[in-house]
Amino acid sequence: MAPQFDAVVVGAGFGGMGAGIELDRIGLRNFVILEREDDLGGTWHVNHYPGLAVDIASVTYSYSFEPNPYWTRLFAPGRELKKYAEHIAGKYGLRRRMRFGTVVDGARWDEEHEQWIVSIAGGETITGRYLLTATGFLSQPYTPPFPGIDTFAGKIIHTTAWEDDFDLTDRKAAIIGTGATAVQLVPEVAKKAAALTVFQRTPIWVVPKVDTAIPAPVQKIFARVPATQKVARLVNTGLLEALMVVGVLHFKQAKPLNKAAGVLAKAHLRTQVRDKRTREQLTPHYDFGCKRPTFSNQYFKTFNEAHVRLETNSIERIEPDGIVTADGHKTEIDTLILATGFNLWDVNFPAIEIIGREGVNLGKFWRDNRFQAYEGITVPKFPNFLSLNSPYSYSGLSYFTTIEAQMKHMGRLLRETFRRGETTFEVTEQANAHFLDRVTDKLGSSVFYGGDCSTARSYYFNPHGEAALLRPTSTINAHREAVNFRLDDYDYGTKSA
Ligand code: NAP
Repeated sequence: MAPQFDAVVVGAGFGGMGAGIELDRIGLRNFVILEREDDLGGTWHVNHYPGLAVDIASVTYSYSFEPNPYWTRLFAPGRELKKYAEHIAGKYGLRRRMRFGTVVDGARWDEEHEQWIVSIAGGETITGRYLLTATGFLSQPYTPPFPGIDTFAGKIIHTTAWEDDFDLTDRKAAIIGTGATAVQLVPEVAKKAAALTVFQRTPIWVVPKVDTAIPAPVQKIFARVPATQKVARLVNTGLLEALMVVGVLHFKQAKPLNKAAGVLAKAHLRTQVRDKRTREQLTPHYDFGCKRPTFSNQYFKTFNEAHVRLETNSIERIEPDGIVTADGHKTEIDTLILATGFNLWDVNFPAIEIIGREGVNLGKFWRDNRFQAYEGITVPKFPNFLSLNSPYSYSGLSYFTTIEAQMKHMGRLLRETFRRGETTFEVTEQANAHFLDRVTDKLGSSVFYGGDCSTARSYYFNPHGEAALLRPTSTINAHREAVNFRLDDYDYGTKSA
Protein backbone atom coordinates (compact mmCIF):
# COMPACT_ATOMS: atom_id res chain seq x y z
CA MET A 1 0.00 0.00 0.00
CA ALA A 2 1.74 3.17 -1.18
CA PRO A 3 1.44 6.26 1.00
CA GLN A 4 -0.73 9.10 -0.30
CA PHE A 5 2.16 11.53 -0.33
CA ASP A 6 5.90 11.32 -0.81
CA ALA A 7 6.18 13.74 2.07
CA VAL A 8 4.02 15.51 4.61
CA VAL A 9 5.33 18.85 5.86
CA VAL A 10 3.80 20.38 8.97
CA GLY A 11 3.99 24.18 9.02
CA ALA A 12 3.78 26.78 6.25
CA GLY A 13 6.26 29.28 7.62
CA PHE A 14 9.68 29.92 6.12
CA GLY A 15 10.98 26.59 7.49
CA GLY A 16 8.19 24.54 5.92
CA MET A 17 8.45 26.46 2.67
CA GLY A 18 12.20 25.88 2.54
CA ALA A 19 11.54 22.18 3.04
CA GLY A 20 8.98 22.25 0.21
CA ILE A 21 11.44 23.96 -2.13
CA GLU A 22 14.07 21.32 -1.35
CA LEU A 23 11.59 18.46 -1.85
CA ASP A 24 10.85 19.82 -5.32
CA ARG A 25 14.56 20.12 -6.07
CA ILE A 26 15.15 16.46 -5.31
CA GLY A 27 12.12 15.37 -7.28
CA LEU A 28 9.73 14.51 -4.45
CA ARG A 29 6.93 16.56 -5.89
CA ASN A 30 3.95 14.84 -4.35
CA PHE A 31 3.92 16.57 -0.99
CA VAL A 32 1.44 18.46 1.15
CA ILE A 33 2.10 21.27 3.61
CA LEU A 34 -0.34 21.28 6.53
CA GLU A 35 -0.87 24.54 8.38
CA ARG A 36 -3.07 25.19 11.43
CA GLU A 37 -3.43 28.92 10.65
CA ASP A 38 -5.63 30.30 7.88
CA ASP A 39 -2.73 31.46 5.72
CA LEU A 40 1.00 31.01 5.16
CA GLY A 41 3.94 32.82 6.68
CA GLY A 42 4.21 31.30 10.17
CA THR A 43 5.42 33.91 12.65
CA TRP A 44 4.98 36.61 10.05
CA HIS A 45 1.36 35.70 9.52
CA VAL A 46 0.50 35.29 13.18
CA ASN A 47 2.30 38.37 14.49
CA HIS A 48 1.10 41.78 13.34
CA TYR A 49 1.28 43.87 16.48
CA PRO A 50 2.19 47.56 16.06
CA GLY A 51 5.93 48.09 15.65
CA LEU A 52 6.64 44.58 14.36
CA ALA A 53 9.80 44.46 12.28
CA VAL A 54 12.72 42.10 11.84
CA ASP A 55 15.64 42.64 14.16
CA ILE A 56 18.11 40.87 11.88
CA ALA A 57 18.81 43.04 8.82
CA SER A 58 16.67 41.98 5.89
CA VAL A 59 19.55 41.32 3.50
CA THR A 60 20.37 38.41 5.81
CA TYR A 61 16.89 37.57 7.07
CA SER A 62 15.72 36.06 3.75
CA TYR A 63 16.59 33.05 1.59
CA SER A 64 20.03 33.50 0.02
CA PHE A 65 18.71 32.05 -3.24
CA GLU A 66 15.76 34.45 -3.33
CA PRO A 67 16.98 37.92 -2.43
CA ASN A 68 14.41 40.69 -2.28
CA PRO A 69 15.89 43.94 -3.59
CA TYR A 70 12.82 45.89 -2.54
CA TRP A 71 13.02 45.85 1.26
CA THR A 72 12.11 49.40 2.21
CA ARG A 73 14.28 49.49 5.33
CA LEU A 74 17.46 47.82 6.56
CA PHE A 75 15.16 46.12 9.08
CA ALA A 76 11.95 45.46 7.16
CA PRO A 77 8.56 45.86 8.84
CA GLY A 78 6.59 42.68 9.54
CA ARG A 79 4.11 43.19 6.68
CA GLU A 80 6.99 43.06 4.14
CA LEU A 81 8.03 39.67 5.53
CA LYS A 82 4.48 38.42 5.11
CA LYS A 83 4.51 39.72 1.50
CA TYR A 84 7.87 38.06 0.91
CA ALA A 85 6.45 34.75 2.21
CA GLU A 86 3.55 35.08 -0.23
CA HIS A 87 5.98 35.78 -3.06
CA ILE A 88 7.99 32.66 -2.20
CA ALA A 89 4.87 30.49 -2.00
CA GLY A 90 3.74 31.73 -5.41
CA LYS A 91 7.07 31.59 -7.20
CA TYR A 92 7.95 28.10 -5.95
CA GLY A 93 4.48 26.64 -6.48
CA LEU A 94 3.97 25.95 -2.79
CA ARG A 95 0.59 27.54 -2.16
CA ARG A 96 -1.25 24.87 -4.13
CA ARG A 97 0.31 22.21 -1.89
CA MET A 98 -0.81 23.94 1.30
CA ARG A 99 -3.84 23.07 3.39
CA PHE A 100 -4.78 25.79 5.84
CA GLY A 101 -6.84 25.51 9.00
CA THR A 102 -5.49 22.00 9.35
CA VAL A 103 -4.48 21.17 12.89
CA VAL A 104 -2.20 18.17 13.07
CA ASP A 105 -2.72 16.20 16.27
CA GLY A 106 0.09 13.74 15.84
CA ALA A 107 1.98 11.34 13.62
CA ARG A 108 2.82 7.66 13.99
CA TRP A 109 5.38 5.58 12.13
CA ASP A 110 3.71 2.64 10.42
CA GLU A 111 6.48 0.04 10.43
CA GLU A 112 4.67 -2.39 8.19
CA HIS A 113 4.05 0.03 5.35
CA GLU A 114 7.06 2.24 6.01
CA GLN A 115 5.08 5.42 6.12
CA TRP A 116 3.95 8.10 8.53
CA ILE A 117 0.29 8.20 9.47
CA VAL A 118 -0.58 11.78 10.24
CA SER A 119 -3.70 12.47 12.32
CA ILE A 120 -5.58 15.66 11.71
CA ALA A 121 -8.03 17.17 14.21
CA GLY A 122 -11.49 16.06 13.25
CA GLY A 123 -10.53 12.49 12.56
CA GLU A 124 -8.93 12.53 9.11
CA THR A 125 -5.61 10.72 8.60
CA ILE A 126 -3.18 11.08 5.76
CA THR A 127 -0.06 9.10 4.98
CA GLY A 128 3.36 10.12 3.76
CA ARG A 129 6.65 8.32 3.15
CA TYR A 130 8.56 11.15 4.82
CA LEU A 131 7.50 13.49 7.60
CA LEU A 132 8.97 16.94 8.11
CA THR A 133 7.91 19.11 11.01
CA ALA A 134 8.54 22.84 10.63
CA THR A 135 6.40 23.98 13.51
CA GLY A 136 8.64 26.82 14.68
CA PHE A 137 10.25 27.49 18.02
CA LEU A 138 8.11 30.46 18.97
CA SER A 139 4.72 29.16 17.95
CA GLN A 140 2.91 28.23 21.16
CA PRO A 141 1.85 31.51 22.80
CA TYR A 142 2.24 31.61 26.55
CA THR A 143 -0.15 33.22 29.00
CA PRO A 144 1.08 32.98 32.60
CA PRO A 145 -1.57 31.74 35.03
CA PHE A 146 -1.85 35.03 36.94
CA PRO A 147 -4.39 34.61 39.75
CA GLY A 148 -7.57 36.48 38.86
CA ILE A 149 -6.81 36.96 35.17
CA ASP A 150 -10.23 35.51 34.32
CA THR A 151 -11.93 38.22 36.33
CA PHE A 152 -10.36 41.08 34.38
CA ALA A 153 -13.19 43.22 33.03
CA GLY A 154 -11.24 45.14 30.38
CA LYS A 155 -9.62 44.07 27.15
CA ILE A 156 -6.93 41.35 27.14
CA ILE A 157 -4.74 40.91 24.08
CA HIS A 158 -1.81 38.56 23.60
CA THR A 159 0.66 39.97 21.11
CA THR A 160 0.18 36.92 18.86
CA ALA A 161 -3.54 37.64 18.59
CA TRP A 162 -3.42 41.36 17.90
CA GLU A 163 -6.63 42.95 16.70
CA ASP A 164 -5.65 45.50 14.09
CA ASP A 165 -8.79 47.56 14.59
CA PHE A 166 -8.41 47.77 18.37
CA ASP A 167 -8.02 51.44 19.24
CA LEU A 168 -5.66 52.19 22.10
CA THR A 169 -6.49 55.87 22.18
CA ASP A 170 -7.07 57.10 25.73
CA ARG A 171 -6.70 53.61 27.17
CA LYS A 172 -5.07 52.88 30.52
CA ALA A 173 -2.88 50.05 29.36
CA ALA A 174 -0.48 47.55 30.88
CA ILE A 175 2.07 45.54 29.00
CA ILE A 176 3.37 42.47 30.81
CA GLY A 177 6.76 41.28 29.58
CA THR A 178 9.90 42.97 28.34
CA GLY A 179 11.17 40.58 25.66
CA ALA A 180 11.89 41.45 22.03
CA THR A 181 8.17 41.76 21.31
CA ALA A 182 7.57 44.27 24.10
CA VAL A 183 10.64 46.23 23.05
CA GLN A 184 8.97 46.83 19.69
CA LEU A 185 5.47 47.28 21.04
CA VAL A 186 5.99 49.57 24.06
CA PRO A 187 6.86 52.73 22.05
CA GLU A 188 3.85 52.17 19.77
CA VAL A 189 1.36 51.69 22.60
CA ALA A 190 2.80 54.72 24.41
CA LYS A 191 1.99 56.87 21.35
CA LYS A 192 -1.73 56.27 21.81
CA ALA A 193 -2.54 55.19 25.35
CA ALA A 194 -3.40 57.73 28.03
CA ALA A 195 -1.33 55.76 30.53
CA LEU A 196 1.00 52.82 30.09
CA THR A 197 2.55 50.65 32.79
CA VAL A 198 5.18 48.15 31.70
CA PHE A 199 5.51 45.15 34.04
CA GLN A 200 9.07 43.90 33.94
CA ARG A 201 10.27 40.76 35.65
CA THR A 202 13.68 40.50 33.98
CA PRO A 203 15.31 43.38 32.10
CA ILE A 204 16.57 42.75 28.58
CA TRP A 205 19.83 43.82 26.99
CA VAL A 206 19.03 46.40 24.30
CA VAL A 207 21.60 47.75 21.86
CA PRO A 208 21.09 50.53 19.31
CA LYS A 209 19.40 49.59 16.05
CA VAL A 210 21.26 50.95 13.07
CA ASP A 211 18.18 51.18 10.91
CA THR A 212 17.36 53.37 7.96
CA ALA A 213 15.10 53.49 4.92
CA ILE A 214 16.61 51.95 1.79
CA PRO A 215 16.13 54.62 -0.86
CA ALA A 216 14.58 53.65 -4.21
CA PRO A 217 17.87 54.15 -6.14
CA VAL A 218 19.61 51.63 -3.85
CA GLN A 219 16.74 49.19 -4.30
CA LYS A 220 17.18 49.60 -8.07
CA ILE A 221 20.90 48.85 -7.81
CA PHE A 222 20.10 45.73 -5.74
CA ALA A 223 17.61 44.66 -8.42
CA ARG A 224 19.86 45.36 -11.41
CA VAL A 225 23.14 44.19 -9.93
CA PRO A 226 22.26 41.39 -7.48
CA ALA A 227 25.93 41.01 -6.58
CA THR A 228 25.71 44.30 -4.66
CA GLN A 229 23.04 42.92 -2.37
CA LYS A 230 25.01 39.71 -2.02
CA VAL A 231 27.98 41.71 -0.76
CA ALA A 232 25.73 43.55 1.71
CA ARG A 233 24.42 40.18 2.90
CA LEU A 234 27.90 38.80 3.29
CA VAL A 235 29.09 41.77 5.34
CA ASN A 236 26.03 41.76 7.61
CA THR A 237 26.03 38.00 8.05
CA GLY A 238 29.73 38.14 8.89
CA LEU A 239 29.12 40.70 11.62
CA LEU A 240 26.29 38.64 13.13
CA GLU A 241 28.43 35.55 12.95
CA ALA A 242 31.25 37.29 14.80
CA LEU A 243 28.83 38.47 17.49
CA MET A 244 27.43 34.98 17.95
CA VAL A 245 30.59 32.90 17.64
CA VAL A 246 32.99 35.16 19.46
CA GLY A 247 30.68 36.90 21.93
CA VAL A 248 28.37 34.04 22.86
CA LEU A 249 29.81 30.66 21.88
CA HIS A 250 33.44 31.44 22.73
CA PHE A 251 32.64 33.50 25.77
CA LYS A 252 35.42 31.89 27.80
CA GLN A 253 38.08 32.74 25.22
CA ALA A 254 36.75 36.19 24.31
CA LYS A 255 35.14 37.62 27.44
CA PRO A 256 36.17 41.22 26.65
CA LEU A 257 34.11 41.21 23.46
CA ASN A 258 31.06 40.01 25.30
CA LYS A 259 31.64 42.59 28.01
CA ALA A 260 32.01 45.29 25.34
CA ALA A 261 28.51 44.48 24.07
CA GLY A 262 27.21 44.96 27.62
CA VAL A 263 29.06 48.27 27.92
CA LEU A 264 27.53 49.44 24.63
CA ALA A 265 24.03 48.53 25.84
CA LYS A 266 24.58 50.30 29.17
CA ALA A 267 25.86 53.44 27.37
CA HIS A 268 22.77 53.31 25.16
CA LEU A 269 20.59 53.16 28.27
CA ARG A 270 22.45 56.05 29.90
CA THR A 271 22.00 58.32 26.91
CA GLN A 272 18.33 57.45 26.55
CA VAL A 273 16.81 57.35 30.05
CA ARG A 274 16.97 60.39 32.31
CA ASP A 275 15.87 58.89 35.63
CA LYS A 276 18.65 57.06 37.46
CA ARG A 277 16.36 54.62 39.28
CA THR A 278 14.60 53.67 36.05
CA ARG A 279 18.00 53.12 34.43
CA GLU A 280 19.01 50.82 37.26
CA GLN A 281 15.77 48.89 36.95
CA LEU A 282 16.30 48.49 33.21
CA THR A 283 19.84 47.17 33.65
CA PRO A 284 20.23 43.39 33.36
CA HIS A 285 22.27 41.53 35.96
CA TYR A 286 23.17 38.59 33.76
CA ASP A 287 25.74 38.40 31.00
CA PHE A 288 25.00 39.66 27.52
CA GLY A 289 23.85 36.78 25.33
CA CYS A 290 22.36 34.60 28.10
CA LYS A 291 19.00 35.47 26.64
CA ARG A 292 18.32 36.90 23.25
CA PRO A 293 19.39 40.55 23.23
CA THR A 294 17.43 43.02 21.15
CA PHE A 295 17.85 46.20 19.15
CA SER A 296 15.90 49.42 19.54
CA ASN A 297 16.33 53.18 19.45
CA GLN A 298 12.86 53.88 20.86
CA TYR A 299 12.25 51.46 23.72
CA PHE A 300 14.35 53.05 26.48
CA LYS A 301 13.34 56.59 25.54
CA THR A 302 9.70 55.75 26.08
CA PHE A 303 10.27 55.50 29.83
CA ASN A 304 11.03 59.27 29.92
CA GLU A 305 7.44 60.02 29.00
CA ALA A 306 5.22 61.26 31.81
CA HIS A 307 2.42 58.79 31.13
CA VAL A 308 4.71 55.73 30.98
CA ARG A 309 5.76 53.86 34.11
CA LEU A 310 8.01 50.88 34.69
CA GLU A 311 6.77 48.45 37.36
CA THR A 312 9.26 45.93 38.66
CA ASN A 313 7.38 44.53 41.64
CA SER A 314 6.10 41.07 40.90
CA ILE A 315 2.51 40.58 39.92
CA GLU A 316 0.44 39.12 42.73
CA ARG A 317 -3.01 39.06 41.17
CA ILE A 318 -5.22 40.58 38.58
CA GLU A 319 -8.50 42.20 39.57
CA PRO A 320 -11.37 43.29 37.30
CA ASP A 321 -9.90 46.79 36.97
CA GLY A 322 -6.21 46.44 37.65
CA ILE A 323 -3.04 44.61 38.54
CA VAL A 324 -1.95 44.24 42.16
CA THR A 325 1.77 43.83 42.79
CA ALA A 326 3.55 42.21 45.74
CA ASP A 327 3.97 45.60 47.48
CA GLY A 328 0.18 45.90 47.61
CA HIS A 329 0.00 48.63 44.97
CA LYS A 330 -2.79 48.43 42.43
CA THR A 331 -2.28 49.76 38.92
CA GLU A 332 -5.67 50.59 37.48
CA ILE A 333 -5.99 49.57 33.86
CA ASP A 334 -8.62 48.85 31.23
CA THR A 335 -6.33 47.13 28.72
CA LEU A 336 -4.01 44.23 29.45
CA ILE A 337 -1.44 43.40 26.80
CA LEU A 338 0.36 40.11 27.24
CA ALA A 339 3.82 40.26 25.69
CA THR A 340 4.59 37.11 27.62
CA GLY A 341 6.11 35.17 24.77
CA PHE A 342 5.98 31.48 24.04
CA ASN A 343 6.16 28.13 25.70
CA LEU A 344 9.08 26.32 24.13
CA TRP A 345 10.00 23.47 26.37
CA ASP A 346 6.71 22.12 27.72
CA VAL A 347 4.60 22.03 24.59
CA ASN A 348 6.90 22.62 21.68
CA PHE A 349 9.50 19.88 21.67
CA PRO A 350 7.80 18.46 19.68
CA ALA A 351 4.74 20.59 18.91
CA ILE A 352 2.69 17.51 18.03
CA GLU A 353 2.79 13.95 19.33
CA ILE A 354 5.29 11.93 17.29
CA ILE A 355 5.45 8.15 17.76
CA GLY A 356 8.36 6.42 16.09
CA ARG A 357 9.62 2.86 15.79
CA GLU A 358 8.80 0.47 18.65
CA GLY A 359 6.21 2.97 19.88
CA VAL A 360 8.79 5.46 21.10
CA ASN A 361 7.21 8.82 21.90
CA LEU A 362 9.55 11.64 20.89
CA GLY A 363 8.44 14.08 23.58
CA LYS A 364 8.81 11.44 26.27
CA PHE A 365 12.17 10.30 24.88
CA TRP A 366 13.50 13.87 25.01
CA ARG A 367 12.20 14.41 28.52
CA ASP A 368 13.26 11.05 29.96
CA ASN A 369 16.71 11.29 28.43
CA ARG A 370 18.21 14.51 27.19
CA PHE A 371 16.95 16.82 24.48
CA GLN A 372 18.92 15.73 21.44
CA ALA A 373 18.90 15.42 17.66
CA TYR A 374 21.70 14.47 15.30
CA GLU A 375 22.85 17.63 13.53
CA GLY A 376 19.70 19.18 15.00
CA ILE A 377 17.50 17.36 12.50
CA THR A 378 17.12 13.57 13.00
CA VAL A 379 16.56 11.23 15.95
CA PRO A 380 17.20 7.47 16.29
CA LYS A 381 14.05 5.33 16.20
CA PHE A 382 12.31 7.94 14.05
CA PRO A 383 12.83 6.76 10.48
CA ASN A 384 12.07 9.06 7.57
CA PHE A 385 11.49 11.94 9.96
CA LEU A 386 13.14 15.34 9.73
CA SER A 387 12.48 17.45 12.79
CA LEU A 388 13.36 20.95 11.69
CA ASN A 389 12.80 22.54 15.09
CA SER A 390 14.96 20.27 17.12
CA PRO A 391 17.26 20.72 20.08
CA TYR A 392 20.63 22.14 18.99
CA SER A 393 19.30 23.06 15.54
CA TYR A 394 19.16 26.85 15.70
CA SER A 395 22.34 28.05 14.08
CA GLY A 396 23.46 31.67 14.05
CA LEU A 397 21.23 34.65 14.61
CA SER A 398 19.15 34.63 11.43
CA TYR A 399 16.69 31.77 11.24
CA PHE A 400 17.36 31.53 7.50
CA THR A 401 20.87 30.20 8.13
CA THR A 402 19.28 27.32 10.02
CA ILE A 403 16.64 26.74 7.36
CA GLU A 404 19.15 26.63 4.52
CA ALA A 405 21.59 24.33 6.35
CA GLN A 406 18.69 21.96 7.02
CA MET A 407 17.61 22.12 3.38
CA LYS A 408 21.12 21.00 2.44
CA HIS A 409 21.10 18.18 4.99
CA MET A 410 17.74 16.84 3.86
CA GLY A 411 18.69 17.12 0.18
CA ARG A 412 21.90 15.14 0.71
CA LEU A 413 20.23 12.54 2.89
CA LEU A 414 17.29 11.90 0.59
CA ARG A 415 19.47 11.81 -2.53
CA GLU A 416 21.69 9.23 -0.85
CA THR A 417 18.66 7.18 0.16
CA PHE A 418 17.49 7.13 -3.46
CA ARG A 419 20.99 6.51 -4.83
CA ARG A 420 21.14 3.36 -2.74
CA GLY A 421 17.75 2.37 -4.10
CA GLU A 422 16.27 2.50 -0.62
CA THR A 423 13.20 4.19 0.81
CA THR A 424 13.98 4.61 4.50
CA PHE A 425 16.68 6.30 6.52
CA GLU A 426 17.31 6.39 10.23
CA VAL A 427 20.18 8.00 12.07
CA THR A 428 22.28 5.55 14.08
CA GLU A 429 22.35 5.67 17.88
CA GLN A 430 26.10 6.04 17.72
CA ALA A 431 26.11 9.08 15.42
CA ASN A 432 23.43 10.73 17.50
CA ALA A 433 25.31 10.11 20.76
CA HIS A 434 28.52 11.43 19.23
CA PHE A 435 26.82 14.64 18.10
CA LEU A 436 25.29 15.14 21.54
CA ASP A 437 28.69 14.68 23.20
CA ARG A 438 30.20 17.15 20.78
CA VAL A 439 27.66 19.92 21.34
CA THR A 440 27.74 19.34 25.09
CA ASP A 441 31.49 19.74 25.05
CA LYS A 442 31.36 22.87 22.90
CA LEU A 443 28.73 24.50 25.06
CA GLY A 444 31.25 24.46 27.90
CA SER A 445 32.94 27.49 26.33
CA SER A 446 29.73 29.42 25.79
CA VAL A 447 28.25 32.22 27.82
CA PHE A 448 25.49 29.81 28.81
CA TYR A 449 27.84 27.80 31.03
CA GLY A 450 30.87 30.06 31.36
CA GLY A 451 28.95 33.25 32.01
CA ASP A 452 26.52 34.35 34.67
CA CYS A 453 23.07 33.45 33.39
CA SER A 454 21.47 32.67 36.73
CA THR A 455 19.01 35.58 36.66
CA ALA A 456 18.35 35.61 32.91
CA ARG A 457 15.25 33.37 32.81
CA SER A 458 16.20 32.62 29.22
CA TYR A 459 14.24 30.35 26.93
CA TYR A 460 17.59 29.15 25.58
CA PHE A 461 17.64 26.90 28.65
CA ASN A 462 15.32 23.95 29.15
CA PRO A 463 13.80 23.09 32.55
CA HIS A 464 16.87 20.89 33.31
CA GLY A 465 19.10 23.94 32.94
CA GLU A 466 20.60 22.79 29.65
CA ALA A 467 21.10 25.32 26.86
CA ALA A 468 19.70 22.86 24.35
CA LEU A 469 18.30 25.20 21.74
CA LEU A 470 21.22 26.73 19.88
CA ARG A 471 23.78 24.81 17.89
CA PRO A 472 27.08 25.79 19.48
CA THR A 473 29.07 26.01 16.26
CA SER A 474 29.55 28.63 13.61
CA THR A 475 27.00 28.74 10.81
CA ILE A 476 29.87 27.97 8.44
CA ASN A 477 30.38 24.72 10.32
CA ALA A 478 26.64 23.98 10.20
CA HIS A 479 26.56 24.48 6.43
CA ARG A 480 29.76 22.52 5.89
CA GLU A 481 28.44 19.57 7.88
CA ALA A 482 25.09 19.70 6.11
CA VAL A 483 26.87 18.77 2.88
CA ASN A 484 29.61 16.62 4.42
CA PHE A 485 28.06 14.58 7.23
CA ARG A 486 29.06 10.91 7.18
CA LEU A 487 26.54 9.14 5.01
CA ASP A 488 27.05 6.06 7.16
CA ASP A 489 25.71 7.97 10.12
CA TYR A 490 22.40 6.71 8.77
CA ASP A 491 21.00 3.23 8.24
CA TYR A 492 19.09 2.85 5.00
CA GLY A 493 16.57 0.22 4.07
CA THR A 494 13.60 -0.95 2.07
CA LYS A 495 11.53 -3.50 3.87
CA SER A 496 8.84 -3.78 1.24
CA ALA A 497 11.29 -4.37 -1.65
P1 NAP B 1 10.05 36.46 25.47
O1 NAP B 1 11.35 36.92 25.04
O2 NAP B 1 9.91 35.08 25.96
O3 NAP B 1 9.52 37.47 26.56
C1 NAP B 1 8.42 37.18 27.36
C2 NAP B 1 8.35 38.22 28.44
O4 NAP B 1 7.24 37.92 29.29
C3 NAP B 1 9.59 38.21 29.33
O5 NAP B 1 9.94 39.51 29.66
C4 NAP B 1 9.12 37.42 30.54
O6 NAP B 1 9.78 37.73 31.72
C5 NAP B 1 7.69 37.90 30.63
N1 NAP B 1 6.92 36.98 31.44
C6 NAP B 1 6.62 35.68 31.16
N2 NAP B 1 5.96 35.15 32.19
C7 NAP B 1 5.83 36.11 33.12
C8 NAP B 1 5.26 36.16 34.41
N3 NAP B 1 4.67 35.10 34.94
N4 NAP B 1 5.32 37.32 35.08
C9 NAP B 1 5.93 38.38 34.57
N5 NAP B 1 6.50 38.41 33.35
C10 NAP B 1 6.46 37.28 32.65
O7 NAP B 1 8.94 36.62 24.30
P2 NAP B 1 8.89 37.69 23.13
O8 NAP B 1 9.18 39.05 23.60
O9 NAP B 1 7.60 37.46 22.42
O10 NAP B 1 10.07 37.27 22.21
C11 NAP B 1 10.33 35.92 21.89
C12 NAP B 1 11.33 35.83 20.80
O11 NAP B 1 10.68 36.14 19.58
C13 NAP B 1 12.48 36.78 20.86
O12 NAP B 1 13.49 36.38 21.70
C14 NAP B 1 12.93 36.80 19.43
O13 NAP B 1 13.70 35.68 19.15
C15 NAP B 1 11.61 36.68 18.72
N6 NAP B 1 11.16 38.00 18.30
C16 NAP B 1 11.75 38.53 17.24
C17 NAP B 1 11.36 39.73 16.80
C18 NAP B 1 11.98 40.25 15.58
O14 NAP B 1 12.95 39.78 15.11
N7 NAP B 1 11.44 41.20 15.00
C19 NAP B 1 10.38 40.44 17.45
C20 NAP B 1 9.78 39.90 18.54
C21 NAP B 1 10.17 38.66 18.96
P3 NAP B 1 11.08 36.88 32.14
O15 NAP B 1 12.15 37.29 31.20
O16 NAP B 1 11.30 37.25 33.53
O17 NAP B 1 10.69 35.43 31.97
